[in-house]
Amino acid sequence: MILHLHKGTTEEHAQTLAKETKSTISFDGEKYVLVTSSKVKEVPEIAKTLVSESFVTSSDIQLASKEYQQAVRTIQLNDFAIGGTTYNTVMIAGPCSVESEEQIEQAAKLCVELGVKVLRAGAYKPRTSPYTFQGLGLDGLKLLAKMRDKYGLQIITEVRDSTHIDEVIEYADIIQIGAKAMYDHGILRKCGETKKPVLLKRGFGTTLQEFVQAAEFILSGGNPNVILCERGIRTFETKTRFTLDLCGVAWLKQYTNLPVILDPSHAIGYAYGVPDLARACVAMGIDGLLIETHPNPKLAQSDADQQLNFDEFRHLYASLNAVASAVCRKMV
Ligand code: PEP
Ligand code: MN
Repeated sequence: MILHLHKGTTEEHAQTLAKETKSTISFDGEKYVLVTSSKVKEVPEIAKTLVSESFVTSSDIQLASKEYQQAVRTIQLNDFAIGGTTYNTVMIAGPCSVESEEQIEQAAKLCVELGVKVLRAGAYKPRTSPYTFQGLGLDGLKLLAKMRDKYGLQIITEVRDSTHIDEVIEYADIIQIGAKAMYDHGILRKCGETKKPVLLKRGFGTTLQEFVQAAEFILSGGNPNVILCERGIRTFETKTRFTLDLCGVAWLKQYTNLPVILDPSHAIGYAYGVPDLARACVAMGIDGLLIETHPNPKLAQSDADQQLNFDEFRHLYASLNAVASAVCRKMV
C-alpha cells in the first residue's frame, strides 16, 4: 500500500511511521511517500492521522503501477520530454562501446546531422568473457562528456557494477542499467538517490514482474524518473541472439506508468533485422528506440554483428517518422 503523508509532516514523524509500518520512505519535494508491502490493504491504525491519501495495489508493483498513477510519467530529458502526453518517440543512437575519440566523435556528428538528440555508448562494458574488450572506463566517460559539451547531445551510458556508479551518475545525463546489472541492488539503490533519468534494461531471464519490481527499488528510493527498456529475452530459439518480447511491451504499457523504450539491436543481434524490427517497435506506440550504430561495424570491439553502419542508420531513421505519425507519435 502506498501512503501519502500530509504536507508539513516532520521528517522525524515520517521516519518513525516508516519504521513502525515497515515501509520504504522518500520525499517527493512536497510530501513523504511511504510504501508498505502490497499485502497491506488498509491504512494501519498508527498511520491514520498522518496519511492524506492511500492507494491499494494488487502486487509489489506499486509506484510503477497504473493502480497508483494512471497517467504515464513524463520524464524531462534536457529540452524535451518523453512519456505523459508528449507522444514523443526518442531516438537513442550510437556505438555499443566508446572505443576512441575519433570513433565517438563520428557517431556524435551523425547524431547532429540527423537531429538525433541522445548519444549512447558504453564505457564500462559487462562482457560475457573477461578476455574481450572491457571498455575505456573513466576515459570513455570523459570522451562522452566532451561530445556532450561540443555537440549539445544528451549522453546515455551504462553502469556495470556499483564500484563506478558515482562516476556514471556524475557524467551521464541518462544512466543505463544493463540486462546483467539489473539485479544489482547496490546500483538500483544508488540510482534511487539521484534524480537523473535511469534507463533500466530487462534481464534476459527476467519475468515482467521481476523487471518492474527492480524499477520499484529506484522509485521507492525517491527517483521518479525511471524508463523501462525491453531488449530481448532468452527463449529456445538460437537463430537470433534473443527474442524481442513485444507481448511484454504491450503488458508494460497496459499495467505500468513508466515510459518504455525498445532496443531491437541487442534483441536480434544481427544488423540485417534491426530496421524491420525498429519500425515494428515504433508502430507499437513507444516512448523511444535504442539503436546501435558504428562508423565501421566490422571493426567494432563489442557487438560487431548487430551495429548498423551510418548509411544503414540514415536509411532507417528516414523511414521512422511515417511509422510514428501513423500511431500519432513523433520521432524526436
Ligand atoms: C548495451 O546496451 O550495449 C548492452 C550491453 O545492453 P544489454 O545490457 O541489454 O545487453
Ligand atoms: Mn551493445
